[in-house]
Amino acid sequence: MVEEESRRLHLNEMQLPLPPALFEGLDLDCVRFYPPEELEEQLRLQIADYAGVDPSFVFIYSGIDGLIELMYKVFWDRAFLIHDPAYYVYEHEALRQGISLSKVKLRFSKLPSDFSVQAQGKVTVVVNPNNPTGNILMDETLAEKLLSNVELLVVDEAYYEFSGVTFAPLLEKWPNLAIFRTFSKAFGLAGARVAYMLAHPKTVGLFSQYSEVYRVSTLSLMLAKNALADTSYVTEYVQVVKTQMERLINALSTLHISSRPSVCNFILVDKDFAEFLVSKGFKIKFFEKWGRLTVPSPSVTEEVIALAENYR
Ligand code: PMP
Repeated sequence: MVEEESRRLHLNEMQLPLPPALFEGLDLDCVRFYPPEELEEQLRLQIADYAGVDPSFVFIYSGIDGLIELMYKVFWDRAFLIHDPAYYVYEHEALRQGISLSKVKLRFSKLPSDFSVQAQGKVTVVVNPNNPTGNILMDETLAEKLLSNVELLVVDEAYYEFSGVTFAPLLEKWPNLAIFRTFSKAFGLAGARVAYMLAHPKTVGLFSQYSEVYRVSTLSLMLAKNALADTSYVTEYVQVVKTQMERLINALSTLHISSRPSVCNFILVDKDFAEFLVSKGFKIKFFEKWGRLTVPSPSVTEEVIALAENYR
């Protein structure tokens, strides 16, 4: 089981076991009842505290994927703009719902300065840092330029805990900013499906109108609450990711296997090498000439480096 999971390097999931404290006080019998409002309210307060915003700016939902689906439902009659490549669900869901979506092509660069011109009159989405390229696309100056031009700017901060970059401090000044964050990455709760939006209460109200009443299961709310009660395991995991990423990148560079680090929890490696790892039982996501690989646990990093040494 553990062995198989450690080879799951394609979805940027947590690669370390979760601390037992996360499961403390989890009352399974509670599933007889619908999710209690007080539980969601308590989590909202904890998220507000964690993100440094007023609780009225917090909207809890079932994953960023759920938020994306909901966003297109709320703004079904608007034109959207995003960069390419970006997290694939933005395009996938727009196509599914028949939403008009234009794309601005990127390499591993930041957003071009004329992005704000193209964004005019559109709901604009920036994945920051970006997946799959792993880099920061936008600084505060460009964000404010966009905010003065667009009806709504959505910033996907799924990897915030790894990058340390957030636009949350701009929320007070800009009512047209919305930030998506998740418990799936650094908090290691991908299977629980909990995420949140930070946005002006007017936007929170709009999203609430279009969403289901019982958005997140009781057990998932409890897990997220426990996770925020003590985030030291998150800090430790982020540190492990940074150390193992550096170790892996250095080893691959010595072996002349091309790779790119990221400010997230994954790296990009040469496609042929990624295919070699797949032949050894690893799961890896591919894009263009790259394999995108979640930074493994220390022991699996060791294994990947040993395989790299015997590659070719
Ligand atoms: N946004 C980005 C940029 C992602 O990489 C991912 C997951 N790979 C998601 C959102 C999905 O998050 P969630 O699990 O909360 O749906």
